[in-house]
Amino acid sequence: MSDLSLGFIGLGHMGGPMAARLLAAGYRLTVCDTVAANVQPLVAQGATAVATAAEVASEADVVFVSLPTPEVVEQVALDAQGVAQGSRARVLVDLSTTGPRTSDRIATALARGGRVVLLDSPVSGGVAGAKAGKLTLMVAGPRAVYDELVPVLNHFGKMFFCGEKAGLGQTVKLANNLMSAAALAVSCEALVMGAKAGVDPQVMIDVISVSSGRNAALTDKVPKHILTRGFDFGFSTGLSHKDTRLCVEEAEAMGLPMIMGAAVRQVLTMTKSAYGAQADFTNMIRLFEEWAGVEVHPAAA
Ligand code: NAD
Repeated sequence: MSDLSLGFIGLGHMGGPMAARLLAAGYRLTVCDTVAANVQPLVAQGATAVATAAEVASEADVVFVSLPTPEVVEQVALDAQGVAQGSRARVLVDLSTTGPRTSDRIATALARGGRVVLLDSPVSGGVAGAKAGKLTLMVAGPRAVYDELVPVLNHFGKMFFCGEKAGLGQTVKLANNLMSAAALAVSCEALVMGAKAGVDPQVMIDVISVSSGRNAALTDKVPKHILTRGFDFGFSTGLSHKDTRLCVEEAEAMGLPMIMGAAVRQVLTMTKSAYGAQADFTNMIRLFEEWAGVEVHPAAA
């Protein structure tokens, strides 16, 4: 496997550290990103930079993409200078969150070309997980292709095979991110209520962390990124809004109501309009604080 040539397109918060792990593991890596400052650190670690996705796919057997939106992924995969135009690549692994219908469209278009196969492999675990190789990967696509790539995917974290149909990994990922954003929103709402009533937020965290309201927002994001007032978890409001919107839209396309999802989407729409798409999504607590006229701070020792 180590003589496989790999490619990586999209070297942002997630893609940068994931690409660095492939280099550290000894793979030959060709990279591409529209932002030069994101390319430079990978070149310094031994990657070869090229200008287009097609050039990456002419150098690499397997091309990974970690890109912001479904539209960008579709363009990078299928455009005139996209992965499908490269002369070498056999597999495109989409690590981005795009939704099942985008995966299905890309897989179908690639199948028409007859050479490149899509694995959708959205990830969970944030920037810290990407750096440490401790992501959760939700992989879907032809089983034999997945089996062949397990030794490479191992460098990113723990894999779960979700099925052979394109997009099944994306469905699991959208469900996860909806639940994650919902847990953050309801935790913020409840913590602000507690602060307004005069409870030390650390007491709320200590109690609820060992009670039935326990969730990952309360045990991780709130103490490390909200109580510190750092708002620096590393996941933007724009991306969280995109994931929640995609989830609600996918449910709608299946004729399913998604009542909680719609509420969380509204909270993220408001966070985005108040603080901007680039603001970390932990900023959402500031909305609830503003409505309540309190800020959530640990009690002075
Ligand atoms: P990011 O915005 O930090 O990175 C995206 C990168 O893609 C940037 O470097 C950007 O310059 C590059 N890019 C954009 N258009 C391009 C194009 N046409 N060609 C080449 N490069 C292009 O985003 P991120 O946080 O790294 O997220 C990437 C994907 O992973 C998203 O789909 C996101 O939903 C998903 N994701 C993010 C996290 C997280 O915690 N940040 C966690 C899990 C999944």
